[in-house]
Amino acid sequence: MTIFDKIINREIPADIVYEDELSLAFRDINPQAPVHILLIPKQKILSLDHLKSEDQDLLGHLLLTAKRIANEEGLDNGYRIAINCGNDGGQSVDHLHIHILGGRSMTWPPG
Ligand code: 5GP
Repeated sequence: MTIFDKIINREIPADIVYEDELSLAFRDINPQAPVHILLIPKQKILSLDHLKSEDQDLLGHLLLTAKRIANEEGLDNGYRIAINCGNDGGQSVDHLHIHILGGRSMTWPPG
């Protein structure tokens, strides 16, 4: 059980911006940009590395949903999608999540 399961189950509060039968999106508690939203599958998937071939439709749904949320947030000048995976990738919560970051110019490469 991670903090994200508790958000899905409404056991702890979150600023939820989008929900459908497969996914949930809420604002990051420690935003790294003016807009910083986390989009997660409701299904428990530990990380990108744990995706299976049968998750292909879900991943497509998540990416299209990320785009839709970015559009609804008014990120017309662009945005960044990030998925941290594993220790070296900087993943700190063991539940697959897509970061949607925008509202400022991003730098590259990420640290
Ligand atoms: P990661 O570092 O795993 O890629 O991203 C995890 C993200 O979850 C971090 O950006 C962190 O700020 C966010 N986060 C951790 N705990 C909570 C929480 O309880 N509520 C919300 N809204 N975000 C959280």
